[in-house]
Amino acid sequence: MTNNQEMIKAGNAMVKVLEAWGVDHLYGIPGGSINSTMDALLEEKDRIKYIQVRHEEVGAMAAAADAKLTGKIGVAFGSAGPGGTHLLNGLYDAREDHVPVLALVGQFGTGGMNMDTFQEMNENPIYADVSVYNVTVMTAASLPHIIDEAIRRAYAQNGVAVVQIPVDLPWQEIPAESWYASANSFQKPVYEHVDAADAQKMIDILAEAERPLIYYGIGTRGAGTELASLAEKMKIPMLSTYPAKGILPDRHPHYLGSANRVAHKPANDALPQADVILFIGSNYPFAEVSKAFKNVKKFLQIDINPAMLGKRHHADVALLADAKQALMKLVELAPTKEVSPWWQANLANIQNWHAYLDKLEHQTSGDLQAYQVYNALNAITNDESIFSLDVGDVNMLANRHLLLKPTNRHFTSNLFATMGVGIPGAIAAKLNYPDKQVFSLSGDGGAAMVMQDLVTQVQYGLPIINVVFSNQQFGFIKDEQEDTNAGYIGVEFNDINFAKVADAVGMQGFRVQKISELADVFAKAKEIAKTQPVLIDARISNERPIPVEAMELDSARFDAKTIADFKQRYAADDLQPFAHYLDQFGVENSQAEAQQGGF
Ligand code: FAD
Ligand code: MG
Repeated sequence: MTNNQEMIKAGNAMVKVLEAWGVDHLYGIPGGSINSTMDALLEEKDRIKYIQVRHEEVGAMAAAADAKLTGKIGVAFGSAGPGGTHLLNGLYDAREDHVPVLALVGQFGTGGMNMDTFQEMNENPIYADVSVYNVTVMTAASLPHIIDEAIRRAYAQNGVAVVQIPVDLPWQEIPAESWYASANSFQKPVYEHVDAADAQKMIDILAEAERPLIYYGIGTRGAGTELASLAEKMKIPMLSTYPAKGILPDRHPHYLGSANRVAHKPANDALPQADVILFIGSNYPFAEVSKAFKNVKKFLQIDINPAMLGKRHHADVALLADAKQALMKLVELAPTKEVSPWWQANLANIQNWHAYLDKLEHQTSGDLQAYQVYNALNAITNDESIFSLDVGDVNMLANRHLLLKPTNRHFTSNLFATMGVGIPGAIAAKLNYPDKQVFSLSGDGGAAMVMQDLVTQVQYGLPIINVVFSNQQFGFIKDEQEDTNAGYIGVEFNDINFAKVADAVGMQGFRVQKISELADVFAKAKEIAKTQPVLIDARISNERPIPVEAMELDSARFDAKTIADFKQRYAADDLQPFAHYLDQFGVENSQAEAQQGGF
């Protein structure tokens, strides 16, 4: 090394690698073991925005949300020991929903490592399971290289990379020319090829089918037009996974909704009756446990990932392709089919269900229910609004009552299903899309887990509309206990006045208790959120939303009293069993019923 060689601190080089990859913000909380990284962030503060969260978990959940929304890597950090382990829920969320996230974890300085020093432990095993890349940095010179490697791997494998950084290393100087970022070389694979012979086989099988269904997942995002064209041309009703809501506009007349529990009745009705399923861009995790495909005679699958083909059911034809490309080919090959009794029965069933949902939403008297809150919410949204959803009943109810267009975005913790993601996800959404209207929607269980970070919205001036559905219970779990347990335990809790919590952190809060107050409060919130965050604590009643996985409507299966009680409990007088429409249009009823896929 010559004396006049230009030097840079390894920590600064690390942050410059992040910048080269387009990272413009990251989340975390400082601590002794990560303070050298903090120093680098201070020096680079004009180029990369540090967001101080109040719990590392919120930082990691927000980083996962960044990646879900933008496709770009999300970054969060925590100090050695507890700061890092607090990240884990957000990291698992990223792993389970296959999005790239980088976690920087502090470590005691190299002089104290492996010495049972304060907050010091072997961190690699902690992050081994959650990550696709997981290393402890050993030298200052390798730090920027490892960060670059971590980001490349996270992108290539759609997963989590974890880098543990002994605190002394980022402060050390390395030659300024000794590092580079590979961001300019990185490319995402492009899949243009669609095997024409397999596509034709699929069309031939679909054309012969009596009860075909298209079952799509989030791999079809952006291909709503092609899905709708194929369905319309071949008269095949469509269902989706819950996360794929919004790929077609909600209440589309040919869309059955999603199946299982966070679900719609028409999808659960149709699925067990289907003879042929085109399963596309989807990894429905309840497939086996709910025996969803038990009556299927031919299963056709399209996925971009070879590991997914044949995973959930034996595939008669499997096509490795991009969903949109494949759908374009299928639309081109598809014959125009006549309206079939199966198509008519499903369309009538969809209409009947939509009328039921509409009726709930437009109730003007009685106790305030979540349904009317969604109606008021739908009135203030626009085509570009983004919704960060927590986990619990909010998934089920937003799935049914939040009306989205393909230009909207909604997201949650889909497969890991961790509570607490609503507020962090909204922070991420507003940071990435400051000009779009952003909502966090949470139950009172989920909101209570992360409510300290409402102050983060105030601190960074993030005008988010937070809606908390308060009913003093873990509703989703309470209903599971109704189905499986001897009684209720641990599912009810004391009330929190979230409007006062909002007030305490410097945000305007509203408490709504009556249907008649909704429109005014939502209109005010919309105005306030042009410049500041706001919270609406909607005090909803605690009754169970209709269990579409266990409908008691069909007189061939239930006695008159059971049906009458069920209809009364769920205000479902006008709801028809699918058997009614199968009968009306002359479709043979296989007597198959939906099964709940839970635990
Ligand atoms: P993923 O699991 O991400 O799968 C997407 C698939 O698409 C993958 O196989 C991928 O390889 C493929 N793919 C990606 N890109 C492309 C492309 N360009 N072309 C082709 N293929 C591509 N979901 C339900 O459906 N019903 C429920 O009842 C339900 N209950 C839930 C309850 C709670 C409380 C929560 C939080 C979630 C629930 N979910 C439910 C969500 C569920 O856990 C799964 O996350 C979801 O069903 C998986 O959706 P997916 O298959 O669309 O997404
Ligand atoms: Mg609740």
